[in-house]
Amino acid sequence: MKNAVYLDYNATTPIRPEVISLMTEVMAEPGNASSVHSFGRKARKFIEDARQELAQVLDVGPQQIIFNSGATEGNATILKGFAGKRILVSASEHASVIESGVAVETIPITRDGVIDLAKFADQLRQGEAPALVSVMLVNNETGVIQPVAEIAKLAKAAGAIVHTDAVQALGRINFTREALGVDFITVSSHKLGGPQGVGALIMAPKAPLPKLLQGGGQERRQRAGTENVAGIAGFGRAIALATASLNDYQQRYAALRDRVETHLNKSGNHVVIHGRDAGRVANTTSFSVNGTTSETLLMAFDLERIALSSGSACSSGTVKPSHVLLAMGVDDALARASLRLSLGWKTTAQDIEDFIAAWDKISAQLLKA
Ligand code: PMP
Repeated sequence: MKNAVYLDYNATTPIRPEVISLMTEVMAEPGNASSVHSFGRKARKFIEDARQELAQVLDVGPQQIIFNSGATEGNATILKGFAGKRILVSASEHASVIESGVAVETIPITRDGVIDLAKFADQLRQGEAPALVSVMLVNNETGVIQPVAEIAKLAKAAGAIVHTDAVQALGRINFTREALGVDFITVSSHKLGGPQGVGALIMAPKAPLPKLLQGGGQERRQRAGTENVAGIAGFGRAIALATASLNDYQQRYAALRDRVETHLNKSGNHVVIHGRDAGRVANTTSFSVNGTTSETLLMAFDLERIALSSGSACSSGTVKPSHVLLAMGVDDALARASLRLSLGWKTTAQDIEDFIAAWDKISAQLLKA
């Protein structure tokens, strides 16, 4: 049987071999980073090395980084910390922001998937001043990049604290905390070749970080719980590898993504590519196919051994249309017929040719029916 082709990097990525070797080395010995003995000190060193990697990439001090269990925790820490206050979030945020259990108001997005800054400025002026504004840097479904620096400027002028979910941006585009001008950044390891279940919150100097977990004194008393030493070490190595090859990869992904989109366009108006006119990361294509459903498409591609996702993986298995596409004004039927293809460090030109061959077969059947 043909090897399966994995084109679902925005859901999760294969772990890089160098990361697996480092994690295997770390896991071979016991080590609680809070212990004073040599095992503990060795564990501490792995964590501090990873902190240094992330600090360097985002141009922050190591003390501005708090490791945690991933982006769902990072987002929950910020959102829950502002519960009961006025919170504005973009309509295309991840479920961990929109459905964090805390009441939020949404900021509308345009057909291209970006926030309309003039409308956002109006929204800031209406009602009481917001305490928190949370807008993702890169959307997980469409790859659309939000103008976070401009959004932060407006939000800060209105007195708000600003948070950005940069999960799909780290290792894909260059950015620093200062250039974005935000107070908090959420990142996650498994989207850039690191292990699952590890992430970090980055904060501006003196930003008031809310505490989600209390107890032990880990992470400068800001996030209790024994550190996932192997996971954090792996995250650090993954950050170093992903950022070192970022420019080359961006060019390669863009060429592969363009090959896909040019081919999809040959199907005329049966196919709609979402967010195409906005600034996007190079690895993501989101498209809908008229007259079918995401489930039908996903199953058809799966039979051809091509692994894709419908909108976001977190909502796969449910029949809900993508809230991101609905917020972009895509009609209900098309929003229920979307697919996402996302590329990453192991993707080859042959993977893309395999996708195209599968698409030709599937679309010929669909468009005939
Ligand atoms: N935010 C975004 C934009 C994401 O894509 C994801 C992962 N689907 C998350 C948050 C949640 O991340 P984690 O899996 O680390 O909890």
